[in-house]
Parts: sequence; C-alpha cells; structure tokens
Amino acid sequence: MQVTFYGAARTVTGSMHLVDTGGERLLLDCGMFQGRRAESQEINAHFPFPPASIGAVVLSHAHLDHCGNLPTLVRQGFAGPVHCTPATRDLVALILRDSAKVQQQDVAFVNKRRAEGAPPTTPLYTADDVEAALDRLVAQPYGRPFALGEATITFFDAGHILGSAVTTIDAGGRRLGFTGDLGRSGTSILRGPETPPAVDVLLMESTYGDRLHPPYAEGERRLGELVGQTVAAGGKTLVPAFAVGRAQDIAYALHRLRDGGGIPAVRTFMDSPMAVDATEIFRAHPECLNDEIRARLEEADPFGFTDLRYVRSVDDSKALNAIDEPFLVIATSGMCESGRILHHHIGDPRSALLIVGFQAANTLGRRLADGVSPVNIFGEPHDVRLRVNTLPSFSAHADRDELLAWVQAMPRVGRIFCVHGEERQSLALAGALAARGFAAEVPTRGQQVTV
Ligand code: ZN
Repeated sequence: MQVTFYGAARTVTGSMHLVDTGGERLLLDCGMFQGRRAESQEINAHFPFPPASIGAVVLSHAHLDHCGNLPTLVRQGFAGPVHCTPATRDLVALILRDSAKVQQQDVAFVNKRRAEGAPPTTPLYTADDVEAALDRLVAQPYGRPFALGEATITFFDAGHILGSAVTTIDAGGRRLGFTGDLGRSGTSILRGPETPPAVDVLLMESTYGDRLHPPYAEGERRLGELVGQTVAAGGKTLVPAFAVGRAQDIAYALHRLRDGGGIPAVRTFMDSPMAVDATEIFRAHPECLNDEIRARLEEADPFGFTDLRYVRSVDDSKALNAIDEPFLVIATSGMCESGRILHHHIGDPRSALLIVGFQAANTLGRRLADGVSPVNIFGEPHDVRLRVNTLPSFSAHADRDELLAWVQAMPRVGRIFCVHGEERQSLALAGALAARGFAAEVPTRGQQVTV
C-alpha cells in the first residue's frame, strides 16, 4: 500500500490523503482548504490527480475541512462511492448544502464590488453539484468491516463529532490507520474515542500536539460562573459555536447548569437554522451518544430547556438586537466570521464573548481571543469593550496528553505520520511520540510513503 499526503500536511485544513492499495485508488477525506480566498480557490479547484482515477472516497467525519471539496471531485469526474458512517452521511448533507449557499452569497457579494471589466468570480460548486455528490454517499456502521476491491475498511468511533470515525484499511497483509480528528473522553454528549487494533502505519491528527486542555467539568463550571457574572452585570453573553457539535454541547451544558442551579434564569437563543437541523440529526443517531445522554433522550430533550428558544429566521435573529435585558445567544458562526450579532455588543463592557472552540489563524475569533482591539467588522473598526474569555475545556479535539494516551493504548503501531496540525503542533507531537519510543514524523505535502 502507498499513501500520498495531499492535504492537512503541516496545516489544519483541506484533509486529503491518497491511498493506493495495489488494486484500488482511494481518497481518505476530501476536505476543503480554508484560508485566503485566491489561494484557497486555486488549491480546491485543482486536484493533484485526475478525479476520475479515484475508485472510492472514505470520509472520517462531516466537518468541512474533511468533506467540503467532495462536490468539486464529483463535478470533475469522480464516479465512485463515498463511504462514511450513517451519522456522517446525514451531517454531510447539511454541511455541503450550507457550503454551496455560503459560496453563492459570497460570490454575489464579491461580484457586486468587482472593478469594472474584471471577470466575475464563480463559486467552487453549486447546489446541484452538492446533490450529485450526496448521491454517492454509502453509510457503513462502526465496527462492521466492508470490502473495497481487495481492501477491507473498518470504522471505529473517534468521539470527535457525531459520526466521526477512525478508519483502518487492510490490504496486502498490511494495515493502515487514519485517526481523522480525535475527540476526548468524558465530554457531555459523545462516546470517547475507541482504540483500534494494531496498525503498521498511522496517520494521526495533531491539532493540539503541544497543548493541554482543562477537564471538561471545569469548563462547565467556568461557563456557569461567567454567565452568572454577565447576567448580574446586565450584559449579553455571546457564545460563538459551530452549528454541528459545539452548539449542542453548549446547549446541553446550559441545560445541566440550569437544572443544578449553576446559572440564573436567562433567556437563551440558538441563532441558526442549521443548528436546529443538526440537533434533529443528533436525536436520530443514539448510536453515537454516551450513556448519560441516551438515558436523558428517553425522558426529555437534552438540547432544549425552558429558557432556550431556537431562532430560524433572519428577522427573528435581527429582533434579538432590540431586547433590552440580559440574554445569552449561541450564534453559530464558529470563528465569529459573520459578526452579525457581535457588532451590536462589542462596545458594551457589561457583555461577554465566550470562545469555546478552535479559532483558526486570520479569523475575527482568533484576533479577539488574542486580545486585539480595535477589530474590523463589516469593514469598520470597532473598539473591543466587551469581555473576551476562552474556555478550552469544550474542545472537540484531544489535547497532547490525550493523543499520547490514545496511541499508547493501541496494541502496536509501526510508523506514525502526524498530520492535521499547524506545523509547530505537528512537530511537537512527533517529538513527544519519539520520546516515548514511537517512530514518528511530520510529512510534507506530496510526500509518498509505503505501508
Ligand atoms: Zn473535525
């Protein structure tokens, strides 16, 4: 078996690795590269191989940086199946349809401002391309091996987002493992990551290869404390969280805090139609949920509680700005990119922004987390007066020690290639693995290895 690293090598986005099993060419993930516009467009639109030469795609999970470029692959001639878990299949539909919509809005905005005579920008793919890609999805449950030509593929729960999988590929008497993104044990909704069997080569994520997160329970306690302080001050609490995963985590944490008297009564809004749909998908996939939440699903709705309202329409969302009393809003633009609600409250020292997820470089969320002020929102500078707090406990990614413990629990690992991390993080994890006796390295884009 041969592996070529085509994405997420010394970076965190655009996950994509080509595996040649001898009889079959498959892609592990087909993620969207996210960064500066021109560079992203160039990378996403041009595959380093003919898409028609790929026999099948295997998706680790539904995050855009792992599945987001699938419609481009199909549009450019890929005609095989796309294998993923049942929950991933449902979430991919939601995420890719949203991606086409966002691109359409984005292109309309850019074209309106384009210089006279300049060629119009076109989206990477359209809603029709997304539907064609969705037709290719084939659901495969955890723990049930399936055949792809001579190769056998098995999914194990990665505990990162609903449906996320660690993948093993058996071919020619060798076994390749791919972590996708790895979650943490002891979080509120999902099961912890499973330990796969022995592998000869492991492609391992390293998002937090050099960081430690406080325990989950500590984050929940801190969330309660900060919400309490902000309500007491008469301010608004803004929690940017991706519609899929983090939004449900926060809703459930608030539910538990409210039940246990850890936060005062405060009107709470989930500001995203996509989060409403994602929540339905969570309810439909109890196989991915931990015992506690499965038990609660039988009696009540763990993602809804008396103070929580889901906001579907833009008008309802705009109406939030007129509310003159403390409230909490879970706004599902994970890295604050859209800034719609934020710009109303950024100058209010009574209000608070709680950062609960990974903030990529060059995003508004990262600048705010780094304490930058003023920041630009919709092209205008704003002084940052609201309080900004980061709660790393809610991370959906394992930290350094959790990554190391996960590998050390495996029966045997031949060589490890650290992918999906900013270079410093990947190198740090490879160093930590090497210090524990593993053969670990950080590949570069285009590098090829034999399993
Ligand atoms: Zn992910």
